[in-house]
Amino acid sequence: MYPKRKVKSDRERFLEAFKKKVGCAPEVYVRRKLASGMNEEELSKLYDMLAIEIARRASCTAIRYADVLKTPEPKELCMQKAASFRVPVCEKCGANMVLRTGQSGARKGQRFWGCSNFPACRYTKNYEEKKL
Ligand SMILES: [Zn+2]
Repeated sequence: MYPKRKVKSDRERFLEAFKKKVGCAPEVYVRRKLASGMNEEELSKLYDMLAIEIARRASCTAIRYADVLKTPEPKELCMQKAASFRVPVCEKCGANMVLRTGQSGARKGQRFWGCSNFPACRYTKNYEEKKL
C-alpha cells in the first residue's frame, strides 16, 4: 500500500529546490535580507517572484513570503538569528512573537509584533525600526 521510499512532500521539494538555487533555506534568506535593512514590502515582492519561479521549475508549490517566517526554525538558525534579528517573546504566554502588518483598524499598514499563538493569545507589541 505504501511506497517503500518516503515520497517527498510538496513542501520538501520546494525547500530543496530553493536551497539548490539560492544556497540557503527561504527563512534564512528572508531574515538575512531583513537584517541587512531591506524594506519588507520590497523583500516580499522579490522573494515571492523568486519563490514562484523556483516552484515553477521544480513543479511544486511555492512557500509564499507570508508563510516563510511561520516555519519552525532549524536549530542552526537560532544562533544566527540571535545575533542578527531579535525576536521578542510574548509577555503574556512566552511564545515567540512574529512581525505582522496591520490589515485593518488602528494599525492598518503598520508593522507590529503579534504573538505566534494568535488567535489564542492576542498580545501585541509596537514594532520599532532598528538601525543596523
Ligand atoms: Zn502570547
